[in-house]
Amino acid sequence: MDGKVLIFSAPSGSGKSTVVSHLLRLHPELEFSVSATSRKPRGEEKNGVEYWFLTEEKFRSLIDADKFVEYEEVYPGRFYGTLKSEVERIWSKGNVIIFDVDVKGGVNLKKYFGDKALSVFIQAPSVEVLRERLISRGTDSMEDIEKRVAKASEELTYAPLFDRVLVNDDLSTALAEAEEMVSGFLK
Ligand code: ADP
Ligand code: 5GP
Repeated sequence: MDGKVLIFSAPSGSGKSTVVSHLLRLHPELEFSVSATSRKPRGEEKNGVEYWFLTEEKFRSLIDADKFVEYEEVYPGRFYGTLKSEVERIWSKGNVIIFDVDVKGGVNLKKYFGDKALSVFIQAPSVEVLRERLISRGTDSMEDIEKRVAKASEELTYAPLFDRVLVNDDLSTALAEAEEMVSGFLK
C-alpha cells in the first residue's frame, strides 16, 4: 500500500533536527525511516533503531538485487541507504515516512517518490548565522565547523530542486511554517 513521504534536507546547522523533532511530536502518524549501513554500530547503537546494520557483503548483494530506494558510498566501503522494505514496513502500518537526510539524498528521494513526497529545504538566513549556530550548538570543533560551512555554500545551490524552501530565521515562525506545509500536504 502506497502512502506519503516527507523529506527534510539542509546544510548541517540549519535547524533540520529541530524542525523534524517538532513535527514528530505533533504528528503521531509520522515515522522516521531507519537507514541501512555497512558501518559498525557505535557505542549503544542498536540494530533497527539508529540503523539497520549490515555487512558490506550483504549491503552489496542487496544493491545487486535492487532492494534500495537510494544508497550512497559516503566513505570508501561505508554504504548508507534506504531499503524498499523499510518503506513498506512504515506504509503497511498506515504511517507517513519522514526523512531527515543530506541534500543530495533529499533530491534522490524526491525523484524516486515523485508526487507522493513533499521535499523541504531548510535554510539558515545567512552563512554567517549558520556558523554562529554551529558554534553555539557546541558539538563540533572549529575545524569541523569551517568544513560544514564551506560545504553549506555548495549545498545551497540544491535549494531550487526542492518543492519548498523554509528559511529558519525566527524559530517559532519557522516551526509554524513547517507545520503549515506538512498539514497542507497530509490533508
Ligand atoms: P541540523 O540538524 O540542521 O544540523 P540543528 O537542528 O541541530 O541543525 O540546529 C543547529 C543549532 O541551531 C542548534 O543548537 C539549534 O538549537 C539552533 N537553532 C535551530 N533553529 C534556530 C533558530 N531559528 N534560531 C536560533 N537557533 C536555532
Ligand atoms: P554516520 O555514520 O555519522 O551515522 O552518518 C554518516 C553520513 O551518512 C551522514 O552524512 C548521513 O547523512 C549519511 N546517511 C545516513 N543515512 C543515509 C541514507 O539512508 N542515505 C544516504 N544517502 N546517506 C545517509
